[in-house]
Amino acid sequence: MPKQEDRCSFCGRGRSQVALLISGMNGFICNECAEQADMIVKETFQKKRQADDSLGFFKETLPRPVEIKQFLDQYIIGQDDAKKFISVAVFNHYKRLLQSVETDKNEVEIEKSNVILVGPTGTGKTLLARTIARMLHVPFTIVDATVLTEAGYVGEDIESLLTRLLQVADYNVAAAERGIVFIDEIDKIARKGDNPSITRDVSGEGVQQGLLKLLEGSIVNVPPQGGRKHPEQKMIPVNTKNILFICGGAFEGIEKKIAQRLNTRVVGYAAGKSRMEIDRDNLLQYITPQDLKSFGLIPEIIGRLPILTYLQPLDRAALRRILTEPKNAIVKQYIKLFEMDGVKLTVTDDALDYIVDKAIEFKLGARGLRSITESVVMDAMFEMPSSGEKELEINAQYAKEKLEKANMMTLH
Ligand code: ADP
Repeated sequence: MPKQEDRCSFCGRGRSQVALLISGMNGFICNECAEQADMIVKETFQKKRQADDSLGFFKETLPRPVEIKQFLDQYIIGQDDAKKFISVAVFNHYKRLLQSVETDKNEVEIEKSNVILVGPTGTGKTLLARTIARMLHVPFTIVDATVLTEAGYVGEDIESLLTRLLQVADYNVAAAERGIVFIDEIDKIARKGDNPSITRDVSGEGVQQGLLKLLEGSIVNVPPQGGRKHPEQKMIPVNTKNILFICGGAFEGIEKKIAQRLNTRVVGYAAGKSRMEIDRDNLLQYITPQDLKSFGLIPEIIGRLPILTYLQPLDRAALRRILTEPKNAIVKQYIKLFEMDGVKLTVTDDALDYIVDKAIEFKLGARGLRSITESVVMDAMFEMPSSGEKELEINAQYAKEKLEKANMMTLH
């Protein structure tokens, strides 16, 4: 009987099928498998090193709250209270991370401070969270609470919230475990009852209970590809202890609850004085955890979101500033786009006023500024790269013509 050919113990190919077969004590490895093994080793160590480095980076460069706010100011107009709260929360969060690496067990343990932002849609909640993540160079993802349903129903499991985070972290679990997750529309999982906006009956309290597990900090099994858990899918365990959760929601109608609470209180002591001081046009600034409870969030969830702050509706002046002032303001972006085709774009003040007026008229807030501006410049962006013209001035008249021509239905 001919002697059996030596085979690679990893891929099973015979000596004649590979360029090189290296022998070991109890087996063989071919050149290709050796190369692959080398890659795996390098990748694993590199990821570990990156994770360690980023912590070192924080230690050296952890920005102070004032600096964090200054950074936010470059991108976000107004919302000073929210910026201040979030700057402190993020600063403490990373101090806490450093502490967990450095210190001995006897020291005071700093608790995690997840954040909840309450404010009308389009006022900058997502932008705040996104900007913070950009500053800190940590994995960041936005997830929508409305896709969540209780286990056993159609929809996504709570754990899948972390799938996106893993994906943006390139499946580097250590990095993901220090990331930021923005959970949008948290108000949509409020308990029903007097909240009419909820129509599905599989969300609500059960989902809040599930979410609690993530917010508290525990090890959860995340489906790497998202969706439902399938028995055949290999889960990735992720520890949420150091993940910063920032929740956002419009909490429509919560002003009524705030007003009710304020009214009942002023009936009591110091009635005359506090009544005078209350700014009835902006009740959100008085929001307390108690109001979230009246809205339908369970007390345990509220307890896990200790930093509660609000965003104001954007007025005309703020919208006007948003068009031109932030570092990546909409108008600046279009000027850049035209510049790349050798076209000098100018937008007159009255055109900017017109765009703001329309955003207010369509009740689109800051979100509408972009779509309206897009409609105004669309024709020019189509034609000018080939027309050879070198200048474009957009005034109110031009903006009006273009916008009226565009199908306004698409903006709604
Ligand atoms: P929210 O999460 O509150 O619904 P977003 O943060 O998604 O709103 O805001 C939508 C868009 O509107 C942002 O991408 C940004 O262009 C603009 N925007 C909203 N608020 C502000 C603000 N305060 N400063 C600058 N831009 C803003």
